[in-house]
Amino acid sequence: LSDRLSGVFDRLTKQGALSEDDVKTALREVRVALLEADVSLPVAREFVSAVQEKATGQAVTKSVTPGQQVVKIVHDELVKVLTGEGEPGALKVDNPPAPILMVGLQGGGKTTTTAKLALRLKEVNGKRVLMASLDVNRPAAMEQLAILGRQIEVDTLPIVPGQNPVEIARRAKQQATMGGYDVYMLDTAGRLSIDDALMAEVEAVRDVTAPRETLLVVDGLTGQDAVHTAENFDARIGISGVILTRMDGDGRGGAALSMRKVTGKPIKYVGLGEKLDAIEEFHPERIAGRILGMGDIVSLVEKAQATLEAEQAERMMKRFQKGQFNMNDLKSQLEQMLKMGGMEGIMGMMPGMGKMARQMEQAGFDDSVLRRQIALINSMTRRERANPQILQASRKKRIAKGAGLDVSELNKLLKMQRQMSDMMKKLGKKGGRAMLKKAMG
Ligand code: GDP
Ligand code: MG
Repeated sequence: LSDRLSGVFDRLTKQGALSEDDVKTALREVRVALLEADVSLPVAREFVSAVQEKATGQAVTKSVTPGQQVVKIVHDELVKVLTGEGEPGALKVDNPPAPILMVGLQGGGKTTTTAKLALRLKEVNGKRVLMASLDVNRPAAMEQLAILGRQIEVDTLPIVPGQNPVEIARRAKQQATMGGYDVYMLDTAGRLSIDDALMAEVEAVRDVTAPRETLLVVDGLTGQDAVHTAENFDARIGISGVILTRMDGDGRGGAALSMRKVTGKPIKYVGLGEKLDAIEEFHPERIAGRILGMGDIVSLVEKAQATLEAEQAERMMKRFQKGQFNMNDLKSQLEQMLKMGGMEGIMGMMPGMGKMARQMEQAGFDDSVLRRQIALINSMTRRERANPQILQASRKKRIAKGAGLDVSELNKLLKMQRQMSDMMKKLGKKGGRAMLKKAMG
């Protein structure tokens, strides 16, 4: 898929101008790519014609090749369609206790996602959360949630055998109110397919709790089925958002596009693994890059060219290949990141960096962190920057004080530098040279 697309764009790159025929040929391939990525036919068709209109109406900019321009138009349009209104991961959790209803088919990842969100609400938003399992069909399901609750240190509603989902929901509401919780999450039972009993059950729970959010959890790998599930749940229950799970797999992400188009509901989060911190806010750019199968390398190259001087890049690359990566290198990387739209921007664009970006994000890594880290490096001497391994306690204290920050922050920075240095060594050894070269223009 990615080969096919790059092939087409290479051909375009070699020509001087972007004719209507070029656009048509390219977009035919884009359409196939979309279908292969599990985008439904009507959605793909509509998408392509929207892009066609934009592309032919546009003059070719001098500074970019026609191929790049088509990629950019396609990419931007994908992002536009995928972007919902409001903040991507924001959940309505005001007016405590705020009920969040989790719905979806069996095995979609509801229970896991309930715990993942509870953990986020607790750690990121500082909320007190209560989780309740309404899955009375499988006794093990309730126990599953209780175990997850103990793992993440979030309370679960005590299990009372013999109650039906509505009774449990009422009890959860009562307990959440009396216990002073900010949020209570209701993890419902799923079925293997949409059925009336399931819908009636969820409806009844909805009616007694009036959820602030009704989140549909669907397996992102199931493509069109996921879209049908979303349509059904939205029609009957009314959902406020979608969470796509298993996006850590090789899924092509096309379901996200169809889902947005068909339901108009925002995709709020994506699940990226079985671990309880493996969830992130939905980033339209990442999914767009994935659907196009190009890891967004084009825009990375464009931005990199604009901001990175070629010689500097060359010099850095040589050092990286030797596995040298000291605080000076880290500083210029951090500064580059700020310029290129911050952490999320750059890491999301580089294939293979996604995992690291996620780890950093989960560790609360954002642009203010970048700035603080640069301040720490600025307060080091030349010798310390070149040889961070010489930093012992007294130097650390001095540096942290100079930057007006805690030694613990400095320790994190040092750890990051060590990790980057290790990574550079590895990249330098196997196949990483080409990638680095490409990424750095
Ligand atoms: P439920 O039936 O909807 O409650 O689904 P579960 O939460 O029990 O999840 C079913 C399985 O999918 C479990 O083995 C989970 O660990 C797994 N799972 C859930 N979310 C993800 C995800 O984002 N990625 C991966 N790889 N596995 C997931
Ligand atoms: Mg479950």
